[in-house]
Amino acid sequence: MLVGDDGKLRAFTTDDVWDAPRQKARCLVDPSHDAPVESCTCGIYVYITKMDAFRRAAFVQRRLALVRVAAVPGTHVVLTERGFRAAEVEIRHIVVPERSPLDLVHYGQFATVRTAPAHEFLLEV
Ligand SMILES: [Zn+2]
Repeated sequence: MLVGDDGKLRAFTTDDVWDAPRQKARCLVDPSHDAPVESCTCGIYVYITKMDAFRRAAFVQRRLALVRVAAVPGTHVVLTERGFRAAEVEIRHIVVPERSPLDLVHYGQFATVRTAPAHEFLLEV
């Protein structure tokens, strides 16, 4: 996830603000269908390993937050090579580098939130 100047989490591709415990996917390619659809690229991308998540986000480390989520029970998912795409997830745990603009108080109301020194950030998650 990205951390915006407003201290809120933002999705990579949709730029949707994530500021509640549960988040729903939407499709930018074809807004008429409910994400995720197997033949499309939409859905909330969930990676199984930290390294796959970092590969996805390596170019934005200064604004990066690693967010551990759980698929909401009964939600639709599409399996991918490195995890799955989900229709709806619940935020459980957030780690950000120190001095991140993330609104720690807000997110601390429904998730475990912690900071890690920038040089240890990759190891702390
Ligand atoms: Zn789609």
